[in-house]
Amino acid sequence: MPIPLDAQNRKGVAPFAGACETSELLNFSELVSSEQKARRFLLGFCWKNHQRHCLHCKARKLYKLADGRRRCAACGYTFHDFSRRFLNACNFSCRQWLWFLKLFELGATPRDMAGQLGVHYETVLKAQDAVRRALLAQSLDAPALFRAGIWPGPGSTPPAQPLQDAPVFGLIELNGFMLCDLLPDLTPAALLHFKTNFHLATASLGQVVYTAPYRQYLSLLCCGPSLWPAQYVRHETKGLPVDANRFWIFAKRRFARLRGMAPAHFPLHLKELEFLFNHRQVRLFPLLAEAVCGVVPQG
Ligand SMILES: [Zn+2]
Repeated sequence: MPIPLDAQNRKGVAPFAGACETSELLNFSELVSSEQKARRFLLGFCWKNHQRHCLHCKARKLYKLADGRRRCAACGYTFHDFSRRFLNACNFSCRQWLWFLKLFELGATPRDMAGQLGVHYETVLKAQDAVRRALLAQSLDAPALFRAGIWPGPGSTPPAQPLQDAPVFGLIELNGFMLCDLLPDLTPAALLHFKTNFHLATASLGQVVYTAPYRQYLSLLCCGPSLWPAQYVRHETKGLPVDANRFWIFAKRRFARLRGMAPAHFPLHLKELEFLFNHRQVRLFPLLAEAVCGVVPQG
């Protein structure tokens, strides 16, 4: 479920426009003018009213250690300000994180980001992955996605087995928002069964398979090798109702930019696109900063 639109956030950048208001850029340049200012901005999302507490037992009595970390007086847990948070995934400085999020907001490609930030391409991919997992963790169906085998993020226990196929999602419009709902009871095999036995029309984009309307859903969406069991199974129906949907037109354009996608990453991309589409009229930058400052769920 998307975050309700914040009236204060309504002015600002539409991600599709790729342009910034001057005042926004001035505010941003002030934020990144020093590491201290950038850190203070991020800490504001990490600790409500800048009040630190133990992430393990919530106790507030902490000792500051010589290396800057803090130790809980109650349980002894030792941590630093960004421990267990998504932005701990790569060792960007706070200024680099803010620059990265600004480039992410503007839709820069990973290669351009690496060039602009002066970091390795792989580091950018790691940061992108952290942002996607942070956005996924905010969705209402996050707990079910973790149960379905999606890794919550850095510091959490990885799933016992890598996912062969992505779970099946249902696309539904609700009060102007597009939701990609996890359908845990539907498997790729069931989707194929509907196709072969009940003539559910299907189309594909790379490895992603999408369908004609099913029950209350505009389309079912999935990705994985089980959807292509034999050469005679094809997903080639043209002009499905979902092809005229604004969200799906946007999503298809973004999927086409990817060079291959592991099925386990499909839910991450889908949740990112759901977030971007549903927040296209608001400023993304503070929402992205808040997301990466979130604590990684323990699965
Ligand atoms: Zn504690």
